[in-house]
Order: sequence, then structure tokens, then C-alpha cells
Amino acid sequence: MQILNAQLPAVNDSEPPIWGETTANIGCGRNLGWWNGAEIWGEPFDPRDPRLRIEVTITAANSKKSKRWTAYGIRLGVLMQALICHRKRRQKDGPALVLGEIAPDQEHEDDAGRRLNKHVRVLYGCALDLDDDVFGDELRDLIAASGLLAVAYSTHSHLQPGKGERWRLVVFFLVPFDIETEGGLWLARLKWRSICDGLAAKLGVTLDPSRRDLAGAFYFPAYAPGAPHKSYVFGGDLWDWRKALEAFEDPRASRTTREPRDGAQWAPDGSYGGGGSRSLTEVGRALGRWSRDYATGFQVADAICDYARERVRSEDGPKIEIECPFDDGHSNPGDPTDRGCAAWNSGDADAPIFIVSCRHAHCQGKTPQDFLGRMLELQWLPASVLTDPAYNPETH
Ligand SMILES: [Zn+2]
Repeated sequence: MQILNAQLPAVNDSEPPIWGETTANIGCGRNLGWWNGAEIWGEPFDPRDPRLRIEVTITAANSKKSKRWTAYGIRLGVLMQALICHRKRRQKDGPALVLGEIAPDQEHEDDAGRRLNKHVRVLYGCALDLDDDVFGDELRDLIAASGLLAVAYSTHSHLQPGKGERWRLVVFFLVPFDIETEGGLWLARLKWRSICDGLAAKLGVTLDPSRRDLAGAFYFPAYAPGAPHKSYVFGGDLWDWRKALEAFEDPRASRTTREPRDGAQWAPDGSYGGGGSRSLTEVGRALGRWSRDYATGFQVADAICDYARERVRSEDGPKIEIECPFDDGHSNPGDPTDRGCAAWNSGDADAPIFIVSCRHAHCQGKTPQDFLGRMLELQWLPASVLTDPAYNPETH
């Protein structure tokens, strides 16, 4: 519990009011008072609200890059307190959390404690990063108008040299988002993107599409020495995320024809076919035998999102754009804005197997096995993904 002890203010949560006496005046849509440095807003915020005593699970670590993430049970009100109390910290990286339970992988000991999408079991809330998108007063009004129970706080980058306003908004769910109940990892990931988009739409803000990860983590509030910082707390409703899925369709359920799909254009010469024998590289050909058993079901995009998150440049629907593993051979090596390479899980493109494909001339003719083999060679992915049931659901 060191992480939480370091983060949480001392609170007595045995009996209500767990928030202690605030200077709140009951009212609507206006500043209700202050609590421990946070402005309290909303309609009306009641520190004795029984929902603040709901037990949720969060998973936390001392750094976003940690491989030792630990799940903790915590009352919602205590969590909200932790999310409005800024800590002074020189560097941006520090204690971080996921708003849900991440359970270790029993089968792969190397993965235990890692923050992977496939380890996420249930989520209790959703966090949005708002960078130069809305400004303090406007953000406050948007959240108050949404009627949601929420906290918002300035992040470590807020108003730092060369940066504008940086806010993080956190809302909490009326019912937990359970990965198994929502159809397992693959479907839950798609639904989660719709939920993040739905929340952004409800608030009228735009969202960076690369930040819609089940295992997405964010920092507890912190500020650089001398930097301005602020938090808000809003009374309101727990969010019923199911409303954001009313128009959601399972892309697999609606697939009735073999019409060319998005992925087809990425491999116009049919280079995704074959068992890897047509691969151009040694590392690609080495996957030939594996391909015969696994390539038709391999969830390459899921594996990349879990193990090589920093290589993902956009995640919009089933297609993810990534850094090309052969980037060093491109005419523009090292260009982080290059969007020439993309990946689809098997079943998400009109192709018999998974697809990784790149538009650069240097990569013409390379097969998905070439790209996958290179990713293994570069250690973007561990070899265990090749047979891990999480990424091979149809083979197990
Ligand atoms: Zn390439």
C-alpha cells in the first residue's frame, strides 16, 4: 500500500461524512465552496452522498512504465480525494493508476504485474486528457452542464513553458465495465473506444484517438515546483456508459459479404497470402510453420497495443497505424508523424490472415510475417504472443 499511502490524504472514512465538513453551500451550477484546495462545483455536491462509499478497484504503480502494477480496493470518495490533491514533483513521471482491476497473467510469469490490455478485468471509470482543448472556466461549465459526478485537475504539464492548459477529467460509472461480460478482449476494446468517444461527445470536447486504451493509465495529480495547479469536484450522476453503446455494432456480426474491406488496399498484390514462404526476410520465413496453425486467427493489433504501445500512432476502429518495424529503411527514417504502416487483427480485414502492411517503397512485397518477424527481432513483442491464447482466440 505504499503507493496509496504516499498519495492519499489522511482521511477518516469509517463514518459519513467522509469528506469532513466543507464550506459548501448547497446550490446549483456555481461554486459551492472549497475542499482541500479544490473548488467544489455542481448540483448539489453532498459530501455525505452514499455513492462516495461505493467500493471500486484501481490498479496503481509508482511509474507509468512500471512492470509492477498492483490492484487495490478503495472507496469512491477516497479515490476522488486522491484525485484532487496535487503533489509537488519535479519530473512528470510518478505514481499512476488505471481506473479498474488488472489481474496478473497466471500462464505467463514474465507478464505478471504488467499493465496489458489482456489483463484488464473490469473498469470503474473513464479519464480524458484535455490538452489545449478547453480552458478552466469553460471546462468547469461543460462538466457542470453534463450533470456528472466528476473530478478534474490540472496535470503536470499545465501552463509549463511552451504549453497551454492541460486538464484531466475523470468520471465514474453507474455499473462497472466488465471485459468478459462485454464479449471478451477483442469486442471490449472496440466498445471501450465508443465509450471514450461517447463521453467526449457528451461533454462536447475532442479526444486524441490514440488514448482509448483499456489499460490506459494516468498520473495522480502533480505539479512542477512553482507551477499553477487546480482541481474541481462536481456533484452529479454516475455515468451510465451503456448509453454510449446504443448504436454500437459488432463489426464481425454484421460481416455478411466478402466485399473488399479497408485492409485489402494495404496488400493489393495479395502479399498477405501464403504460409510465409513468400516472405522476403529470414525472420518472416522463420514464421512459415507457425503461420499454418496460427496466422488465420492471430490478433496482431491487440498484441502491439499491449506490448508496443509506444509504437502505435493512431487507433481508430480495427485498424491501428504504427511505426514501421522497417522504418530505418524508409526515405524518412525516424519521422514520428509517418502514417505509412498499419495493422489489423485477423478477421478485421478482408484477408485470410492478420495484416501488417506498409506503403513505403522500401516495404513493397513484404508479407505480414516479415513485419511480425521484424517486430519479434526488435523485441517490440515477446515470442510468447505467437501462441498466447489472448491473441489467438480461435486457435484455442
Ligand atoms: Zn515500412
